Amino acid sequence: MFTSLSDRLTSTFRNLRSKGRLSESDVNKTIRDIRLALLDADVALPVVKEFTSSVRERALGAEVSEALNPAQQVVKIVNDELTSILGGDTRTIRFAKSGPTVIMLAGLQGAGKTTLAGKLAYWLKDQGHTPMLVAADLQRPNAVTQLEVVGERAGVPVFAPERGNIGGHDAVGPTGEGTRSFGDPVAVSRDGIREAVSRQHDVVIVDTAGRLAVDADLMRQAGDIRAAINPDEVLFVIDAMIGQAAVETAEAFLEGVDFTGVVLSKLDGDARGGAALSVAGVTGRPIMFASTGEGVKDFEVFHPDRMASRILDMGDVLTLIEQAEKAFDRAQAAEMERKFLAAEDFTFDDFLQQMSAIKKMGSLKSMLKMMPGMGQMSAQLDALDEREFDRVEAMVRSMTPFERNHPKQINGSRRARIAGGSGVTVSEVNQLLERFGEAQKMMKQLARGGGIPGMPGMPG
Ligand code: GDP
Repeated sequence: MFTSLSDRLTSTFRNLRSKGRLSESDVNKTIRDIRLALLDADVALPVVKEFTSSVRERALGAEVSEALNPAQQVVKIVNDELTSILGGDTRTIRFAKSGPTVIMLAGLQGAGKTTLAGKLAYWLKDQGHTPMLVAADLQRPNAVTQLEVVGERAGVPVFAPERGNIGGHDAVGPTGEGTRSFGDPVAVSRDGIREAVSRQHDVVIVDTAGRLAVDADLMRQAGDIRAAINPDEVLFVIDAMIGQAAVETAEAFLEGVDFTGVVLSKLDGDARGGAALSVAGVTGRPIMFASTGEGVKDFEVFHPDRMASRILDMGDVLTLIEQAEKAFDRAQAAEMERKFLAAEDFTFDDFLQQMSAIKKMGSLKSMLKMMPGMGQMSAQLDALDEREFDRVEAMVRSMTPFERNHPKQINGSRRARIAGGSGVTVSEVNQLLERFGEAQKMMKQLARGGGIPGMPGMPG
């Protein structure tokens, strides 16, 4: 997703970076390149126009001419404007003050609504909510079964009309309260919410039917459901792969049903990104979530600012920080900081702690890929051998506690023993100790100079 747009934009900025001052023609050329890159990525024309005109206005203003580094300032402006097109601030579900929060899903058939229902339920449940799913997609008998499967995976109950009655009328409902057309999605939705209230679920997610293309019947049905259940949120689910058609579809749903937020699905695919960049801009509704696979956990809150910096290959530093916060032990981190500030020696024990924290964060490669500028290096990163880290860890684990805390005392015979214990050569142990010594020195210099601690001792 966004790879080719990202490549185009970063190469545009690379040309710019070699320049100290920017002339008006430099700015115009940059904007022309950005415009073409966006159009090639299937971004809707009105969005492209608005985007480039705000960038041009700011890029020719004082903000850039007075900047220390004009090229970087332009990148910052593009980043700001991209964030704003993607919806600005991060926004997720707004919960009802009383009674269950009702979330209705709308979108074309195949957009990913049913799959999303499960992901959203799973995500909500993880946060301590007690969601229930309602199967109001009665267009395809399969859809109800599919929602039940999804509900089971997410571990949440599903309210569905009894099988055999789908599409039929005057059938007896699951609550057995007399005749009602359970083939009627409006009635099913209403009953589902009543059921959720009586079972004290705090969120109800209503899955509705889609068609392959926008049509009047579909819109009427979705509009009727909306009127009947008065949802707190209506999420319009759109397949990021549909390209240019995204805008038209979004506009039709905005008019026909109205929605409060957008969910982009199939962001794991190789779509060019136009849908993502257009829909929020054209409809004025925020993108709230992204669906990134078929599994129940392939789902994330959409952060416009992070997406923008990912596109510009500025790295997803915020995500990295969040992951780090989850993996790092606060007490350990505080101890590290104390040692660092006191310019105490960084030891192999500290190193082991850091390694295990990094491992908790996932693979080293996936972490490195989130760092600024690394998008250019993905081929090298793919070639990186994670086993190298295992070898280093094995060497450290072969050291005695004394050795880990006094690396300078590791003499020849100790080195031979460590090499033997970890299955490496003595020269590899020598290399590790040498690099570690340098890292220790660097840490001390940084600490005295008040810099920030890095990740010392890393191989390679
Ligand atoms: P609905 O008709 O809107 O309910 O769409 P479905 O939820 O049935 O999804 C249609 C197809 O897309 C199914 O095969 C899903 O497994 C698949 N799908 C849904 N979301 C994603 C996603 O984020 N990534 C990928 N790769 N496939 C998805």
